Amino acid sequence: MILILVPNVDMQGAEYRSLTEALALLPNVQTRVHHVQGALQTLTEVYLIGDTKLLSLEDMRNLPCVERVVRVSQAYRVIGRHKDDHRPTSFEYNGVRFGQDNLHVFAGLCAVDTRENVERMMRALQEHGQVCTRMGAYKPRTNPYSFQGHGKACLPYVFELAGRHGIRVISMEITHEDHIDQIRAALEQAGRPTGVMLQIGTRNVQNFELLKHAGRQQEFPILFKRGFGITLEESLNAAEYLASEGTQRIVFCLRGVKTHMGDPHRNMVDFAHVPVVQRLTRLPVCIDPSHSVGGRNRSPDGLLELFHVTAQGVIAGANMVLTDFHPDPDRALVDGPQALHLDELGPYLEDIHIAREAYERRLARVQNGL
Ligand code: PEP
Ligand code: MN
Repeated sequence: MILILVPNVDMQGAEYRSLTEALALLPNVQTRVHHVQGALQTLTEVYLIGDTKLLSLEDMRNLPCVERVVRVSQAYRVIGRHKDDHRPTSFEYNGVRFGQDNLHVFAGLCAVDTRENVERMMRALQEHGQVCTRMGAYKPRTNPYSFQGHGKACLPYVFELAGRHGIRVISMEITHEDHIDQIRAALEQAGRPTGVMLQIGTRNVQNFELLKHAGRQQEFPILFKRGFGITLEESLNAAEYLASEGTQRIVFCLRGVKTHMGDPHRNMVDFAHVPVVQRLTRLPVCIDPSHSVGGRNRSPDGLLELFHVTAQGVIAGANMVLTDFHPDPDRALVDGPQALHLDELGPYLEDIHIAREAYERRLARVQNGL
């Protein structure tokens, strides 16, 4: 059960004290307090965990400071959508709004290799009016002898160039809690010219200690990839780990699942789950066509399979698209074969626009009862 308190509640006040005293008397019920920082107000939510079935909504609503009560109807207490749950399905970060009702493209380098390539990528993004990108500095690799990213050494020029080209949010994978501190320090050093969305990769989805660390900080939002070898339910429970520690600014990313049934794609594309995740949770949903498809095959109609797969996710209502690009894919140190080329950025964005428009037309029909 969730008690949503009146906005800007005074945690030192007598009313709040009598609320906590009343809750302390409930047998076998523990409480966890979350603060959700909005643009204009702070919302405080009290999660009641344990024997809550017998508690009446009416009694809880009558407690001091309580504005609304939500009975949790399923597993994902914080990220889930529950009956009569009006908690937000969007958040804002560094001037960019992420929600279940809009769409952002994060085209960029799978892995940062040279300053020159970062600059070429960012220049192309700016020319196409983009304010988000992906830039990998810490790369978890299957083979221990493969390039694992430049790590913190590349952060100063990545952030500086991002600022210079109007990039507001960079999706960047972290594989260790120290990386959060390194990113924070480098941003600070550079004068905060841009923002970072911390990416939790598919290989770390059940690294619960990393999740707890990432979830405890509130500064950076988190792009959480689904696990490639576990069920959707297990992945959503893992995302709930982040939220249970306090952070609520999470985007859930579909990136395909491992099975040979998906061949010849690198992973079995799972974008049919876009509306499923939107139904089960309040999280905006991202698709990663690059790591799903894993190649640049062109279908007989002339479109790359990467374009087709992206369009499938977007027409189903995806809220974010994460795609590998590279100015010189043959020389890319990671995932070159699946990278789109810079001259494909314009056509790719246009194709996404067409698919998004089709989604919005489908939505308008259903909203008008057709
Ligand atoms: C990536 O986005 O660079 C990546 C490694 O993805 P995933 O964790 O989905 O394999
Ligand atoms: Mn990659």
